[in-house]
Amino acid sequence: MTTINPFVFPGLRSRVVFGHGTIAQTGAEIERLGRKRALVLSTPNQVADAERLADQLGDLSAGFYSGATMHTPLEVTEGLLASLPRDGFDCVVALGGGSTIGLGKAIATRTGADQVVIPTTYAGSEMTDILGETAGGEKVTRRDPSILPETVIYDVDLTLTLPPSLTVTSGLNAMAHAAEALYARDRNPIITLMATDALRSLSGALPVLAKNAGDREARAGALYGAWLCGAALGGASMALHHKLCHTLGGSFNTPHAETHAILLPHTIGFNAAAVPDLLVPVTKTLGGTPGVALFDFAASLDAPAKLKDFGLSEGDLDRAAEIAAKNPYWNPRPFDRESIRALLQDAWEGRRPPQ
Ligand code: NAD
Repeated sequence: MTTINPFVFPGLRSRVVFGHGTIAQTGAEIERLGRKRALVLSTPNQVADAERLADQLGDLSAGFYSGATMHTPLEVTEGLLASLPRDGFDCVVALGGGSTIGLGKAIATRTGADQVVIPTTYAGSEMTDILGETAGGEKVTRRDPSILPETVIYDVDLTLTLPPSLTVTSGLNAMAHAAEALYARDRNPIITLMATDALRSLSGALPVLAKNAGDREARAGALYGAWLCGAALGGASMALHHKLCHTLGGSFNTPHAETHAILLPHTIGFNAAAVPDLLVPVTKTLGGTPGVALFDFAASLDAPAKLKDFGLSEGDLDRAAEIAAKNPYWNPRPFDRESIRALLQDAWEGRRPPQ
């Protein structure tokens, strides 16, 4: 018999539309929210898609802006807001990955605009009430109900263009949310179910996509898994893995998805020593022990494995360990500066974790 411990399930609060070609439903979803003027957002890379969507929205469109930037710099948000009339839009449509979704959240929380998000990576930001913004080289993260998008439209077709390398690293980024949700202090049975199915779905889809990025069925499996991972990220508190990635991204500007992909086997391997039972869904899905299984899985996808390939020096590792150990936070296994430094060394060299 399973033991059910007391828990709180905060609920799933965003409306989700999932399928192929669902971008065509954007106008109907904006109207469903009672909104009339939608500003479409993207990065420069996806400007053609944003322009097409704005055209498609017709009278519902308040135009498009394609200057979304990684880590949501404050000057981009403030510059955009200063250039728009106050009553020019009542809704933002973020079409893209976490960078574009971050800009949409930053605008929504400042203006009260609703958000319709159309995610095109597996990063998961669309399902969280978390916003990280950078100013003066520092990233500050906060949570607020006004940050959570009202509606999320998953269109599998839009992920077909995700480059193969980003497909793999973004998929591993998503799996990191599921893995940490499994041992979260505030986990609950629903989040555990979602995280478990997310691992199953992504571990099936990513090997197919690593060989054929255009496989539509695998794309659907990966995006479905990414939704579940995003829900796990939004519904449970993350620990060492996410904090370390935040430190490296925020203080050393390492790329988001790659940093997650490289650190994942090491952080989960480290924590597996304390909570092997809670990580059983990882071992059931991938076999072996959690850290080794994740390392071998990432290697089989040709994912980047060494932090040293992303501009970090060994000296940086000392400072990163210092920063990561300085602000204490909950983790299933106690750690100190030395244990973090050793973990970072393994990730820097791309060494197979011990467990
Ligand atoms: P990204 O949004 O920066 O996208 C990377 C590049 O890929 C961009 O140029 C983008 O235009 C392009 N791209 C995205 N989808 C594409 C597609 N389908 N086809 C072709 N090109 C495509 O990358 P990301 O990893 O999704 O997001 C990283 C950012 O998101 C970071 O700033 C991170 O902090 C943030 N994030 C926030 C949360 C949260 O809950 N607040 C969660 C996850 C990530």
